[in-house]
Amino acid sequence: MGENYNTLGYHLQAGDMISAVCYNRECQHGAPLDLKYLVEKLGPEFLAMHHTLTPLLYCSECKSKNVGIRLNVNVEQKVSPTG
Ligand SMILES: [Zn+2]
Repeated sequence: MGENYNTLGYHLQAGDMISAVCYNRECQHGAPLDLKYLVEKLGPEFLAMHHTLTPLLYCSECKSKNVGIRLNVNVEQKVSPTG
């Protein structure tokens, strides 16, 4: 078992932020996901990827299922892995 940088647990612990964005052109609502809540619900090993998360999401504004995710890496903790 190697380290997986794509899990909910990793992103929570790294201080990253994942936002949901609505692809509905007239809406374009965006909101940060509650990673702590997602880890509690889905487990820390759950993959935080577009195809794993978006089926669970819908837009809270227009109720569209046409949503995507955007990852915002915690810039303060960003260090070179080779450093
Ligand atoms: Zn929307």
